[in-house]
Amino acid sequence: MKLVRHGEWGAERPALIDDQGTLRYLSGHIADITPQTLSPQGLDALRRLDPATLPAISGRPRLGVPLAGIGNVIGIGLNYRDHAAEANLPVPTEPIVFNKHTGSLSGPNDPIVMPRGATKLDWEVELGVVIGSVARHVSPADALSHVAGYLVCHDVSERAFQFDRGGQWVKGKSSPTFCPVGPWLVTADEIPDPQALGLWCEVNGTMRQNGSTSGMIFDVATLISHLSQFMALLPGDLIATGTPAGVGWGKGTFLAPGDVVRLGVDGLGEQRQEIVVER
Ligand code: ZN
Repeated sequence: MKLVRHGEWGAERPALIDDQGTLRYLSGHIADITPQTLSPQGLDALRRLDPATLPAISGRPRLGVPLAGIGNVIGIGLNYRDHAAEANLPVPTEPIVFNKHTGSLSGPNDPIVMPRGATKLDWEVELGVVIGSVARHVSPADALSHVAGYLVCHDVSERAFQFDRGGQWVKGKSSPTFCPVGPWLVTADEIPDPQALGLWCEVNGTMRQNGSTSGMIFDVATLISHLSQFMALLPGDLIATGTPAGVGWGKGTFLAPGDVVRLGVDGLGEQRQEIVVER
């Protein structure tokens, strides 16, 4: 299933995308798409619906974050060999874990707001993993059973805040609109192998990143198992699993107002954002 939320910011309503790509209302069946929706029982109830019986949505409404109530956004740094190489940093021996403030979440096609003082705004296409059930001390073999679904995650970064100001990476990762997600939350049954997905990002029509999740240093199962040693991953938590080579930081080129970024992951859809300035 491909779950979406549509409508104005803060007033989004639940929907799904059927096999023909038609957006269909779920409002008659659930009030919203929440961590409870992602439980096995919640997803089973939605699977029993015949999409053809759901009213189609006309036009092209704004799409929001496809899941309400995301409690934590956990980022993984330098998780692709080619990206660690372009950053001139050693391949990590353990996952590099950081936070993105949930206030950074935004819809897949909402503008990215360049914050005051930003000078090194950068792009990072990533596979986003959404947790469906509590994961604490899980083995890699059991880890994927805790995944409800996957989505495209844009881990927008302000490198000056991240690297030039000291302290932790969270400062460069958390401005409002720094975490566009979606367009869809694709349930895990549709993604049998999360390590076999192409992912790409282009800026103003020029391809900048073109990789595969097969290039991860720590795969999704290892990341979940690792994180679950230090925290209880909760339903609705989002893990941004790292980005392949080709970010602006590697070449010293960054985003400017008016630039347009497009990015996508195989099977999970595409995003498009224009860069605007914070007022
Ligand atoms: Zn990242």
